[in-house]
Amino acid sequence: MLRFTLGRREFLTASTVLASASLRSAGGARFVAESLPAVLGGTPVRSRPFPTWPVVDTRDEERLLEALRRKEWCRLYGNITATFEQRWAEKLGARFALGVVNGTNALYAALAAVGVEPGDEVIVPPYTFVATVNAVVQHYALPVFTDTDANTFQMDPTTIEDRISNRTRCLLPVHLGGNPADLDRILDVARRRSLPVVEDACQAHAAEWKGRKVGTLGDVGCFSFQTTKILPCGEGGCIVTQREDLYDAFHAFHNNGRDRHLGEQKGYLHQGSNLRLTELQAAVLLAQLDKFDELCRRREANAHRLETALKQIPGVEPAASYAGCTRNTYYIVMLRYDPSAFAGLPRERFLTALQQEGVPAWSGYRPLEKEPFLERVFGSRAYRRLFSENELRQWSERCRCPQNDALCEEGFFLSQEALLGEPSDVDSIVEAIDRIRRYAEQIRES
Ligand SMILES: *Cc1c(COP(=O)(O)O)cnc(C)c1O
Repeated sequence: MLRFTLGRREFLTASTVLASASLRSAGGARFVAESLPAVLGGTPVRSRPFPTWPVVDTRDEERLLEALRRKEWCRLYGNITATFEQRWAEKLGARFALGVVNGTNALYAALAAVGVEPGDEVIVPPYTFVATVNAVVQHYALPVFTDTDANTFQMDPTTIEDRISNRTRCLLPVHLGGNPADLDRILDVARRRSLPVVEDACQAHAAEWKGRKVGTLGDVGCFSFQTTKILPCGEGGCIVTQREDLYDAFHAFHNNGRDRHLGEQKGYLHQGSNLRLTELQAAVLLAQLDKFDELCRRREANAHRLETALKQIPGVEPAASYAGCTRNTYYIVMLRYDPSAFAGLPRERFLTALQQEGVPAWSGYRPLEKEPFLERVFGSRAYRRLFSENELRQWSERCRCPQNDALCEEGFFLSQEALLGEPSDVDSIVEAIDRIRRYAEQIRES
């Protein structure tokens, strides 16, 4: 790594990542000033922001305007939603795809369709967005947390079986940050225990496990098209399945219970809700799908460049992928921070310093199983009717997640914007981290 004692020639042959910095400021004194971290009063590594998300161009404008003018804004009168569903199903290799209002309700409908009822238990990971768990408690079911594999940030598959009870109704793994969970082991447990698997793929559009798209390997896969996700339309979601019986159930549920085979007769298959995606959203999704592959390529190439460069910096470790992962689509770059390689600089100070360099970083998820709102949920009349005092008391003991607790202290995220620029934008992230590390002691004492 770059040191102040280096002569100018050594400067120029130092790591390529830092080459631009050394060229910008060949004079020693000036270099010292410029290389000071922003948090210590130096000039930020980044002089301009990363690209903004979502990416919008005339294709979005044309599709949206056309849908607007057609006046068939509800899918019951148009065909844009159905066209999108067909294209998304083809892309994933799924037999059926159904657009819905958002990822949260995709999960809610999926759990209903596989038979989750009040008083059941659903196995979930604790390191995820809260919606995964909200979908479970909205059914008055008990979320039972596995531990997390701190290496991959995913559900630890070795901790599933000891959390299963005779009330367990479903496994709900999440493919966090575009990185697939260990589907081989999860599906193996599911088969042996005859439990359905609902995949929360809300962060993992087009990610692959052994060449197949995640969301299509379990019984049901759920996607989110919320603005920040890598296929966005503001708010939206999708349920995919290979099973026609489940598709019939989703279709009815998302359309006020109407049986899709009865058409105009308007018979009801079962009770339902209204989760229909609008034609306007589907129009935006079709336009976004046109640029999806190109943006994925850029995100993935930049992520690989970043991970390679970070190997040179001790104390910052990207999340690993399982051997079965054949494609990580990097909705988030997930990393672990080790303060001992940064002179004991606490994670929060490190992240503040990184943000001041212009890098969009934050501290990841908190331990979900410890969220106080869950205690209030379990104290409700409904839960006390459905679960004995003993079962609710034992719940926290069953859900102990020591690896997850450690990960919540160490983890940090970079948002996808960090991957949407040029290779030089990636290099600037590495330069920022390296600069903070070299000045870690001064930052800690400042
Ligand atoms: C975004 C997200 C959801 C919920 O999707 P919405 O469309 O925001 O309702 C569920 N699970 C995970 C892991 C998510 O990231």
